[in-house]
Amino acid sequence: MDFIPYGRQWIDEDDEKAVLQTLRSSYLTQGPAVAVFEQALCDYTGAKYCVAVASGTAALHLAVASLELPEGCEGITTPNTFTATANSMAYCGLKPVFADIDPVSYNLSPDALAAKVNSLTRLVIPVHFAGQAAEMERIASIAQRNGLKVIEDAAHAIGSCYRDGSKVGNCRYSDATIFSFHPVKTLTTGEGGAIMTNDESLYRRMLLLRTHGITKDAGQMSQNPGPWYYEMHALGWHYRITDMQASLGVSQLRKLEQFKHRRREIVARYNDSFDGLPWLVTPHEAEGLESCFHLYVVNIDFAAIGKTRAAVMQQLHEAGIGTQVHYIPVHTQPWYQQHYGYRQGDYPATEAYYQNCLSLPLFAAMTEAEQKRVINAVRELA
Ligand SMILES: *Cc1c(COP(=O)(O)O)cnc(C)c1O
Repeated sequence: MDFIPYGRQWIDEDDEKAVLQTLRSSYLTQGPAVAVFEQALCDYTGAKYCVAVASGTAALHLAVASLELPEGCEGITTPNTFTATANSMAYCGLKPVFADIDPVSYNLSPDALAAKVNSLTRLVIPVHFAGQAAEMERIASIAQRNGLKVIEDAAHAIGSCYRDGSKVGNCRYSDATIFSFHPVKTLTTGEGGAIMTNDESLYRRMLLLRTHGITKDAGQMSQNPGPWYYEMHALGWHYRITDMQASLGVSQLRKLEQFKHRRREIVARYNDSFDGLPWLVTPHEAEGLESCFHLYVVNIDFAAIGKTRAAVMQQLHEAGIGTQVHYIPVHTQPWYQQHYGYRQGDYPATEAYYQNCLSLPLFAAMTEAEQKRVINAVRELA
């Protein structure tokens, strides 16, 4: 009996061929594949510019750094996210502040956001949790009223749509949007990430910061004594993605609509199969928001079934089924408590959600038989 993880990649022959072709070419990195991948992401999302990088975390860091916000100011995000979202602000000397989630969508609540904005707030990073876009129309209008920059953490949401039907990543509602291409995400480059933007000056800044803050562009340098010469204009990082990864990304992106179709099909079957279980709440897809569903998160009344979550995870594990918890509220992490004084109880909607959430296996390569096994095992929990 094969173990079914909560998420995994889909790799087929096209992907292998694409990577092999790059391996046999002259460039393993800093070659032509990165620009091809970036253009493909622009074509897919509709954004003007893309900077592909080494990870989703690097994408968040570069996006925040490129805004050049003053140290000591504050940024707001949701506590229901991976720590990297909030960390990206801390890297840049901003204080990460949280605003609670909406208890139905599990996304950043626009009302909670509006209530948290103060004179130090300069940035908001909504996360499109599990793939469903946050309420970007409202978030963008709060941001505009208060002079805040907006970065969308779309690590879960490549392939998803906003309420207006346009694609997440087009940056219609934000200064920049980031993706992650870790293997559990909807499409993968092994490790990898990308930042989308429509702002040319941010784009130029991110390109510079991706590679040590170094330029070789004669038009930007103070002198040009010879072909060896380059100048460092900012304190950047080495956040490049390789050509092997970028070529995998190009071939994965060609399958994104197929992945989306399959993910939505699996979600619909789960929803049907769990309909009527009084101790389980299936995810709510809001009217008009078409999600590419990175995660399938159910809410289980563990008290009602007389089992702890740890016992349920163990029971499913023994049946060969992987599950995960997304997420431990970031403000309850020891580092956040020590550095910023956050406490248990600060974000009650997120904490209540965290008590009962469980992510069941969801990935495009999952077979019908595998899904049937998951459905049966879940139904047998009570
Ligand atoms: C995965 C993830 C990241 C980080 O992406 P990496 O590619 O693993 O660095 C950031 N934010 C969210 C919401 C994620 O799920």
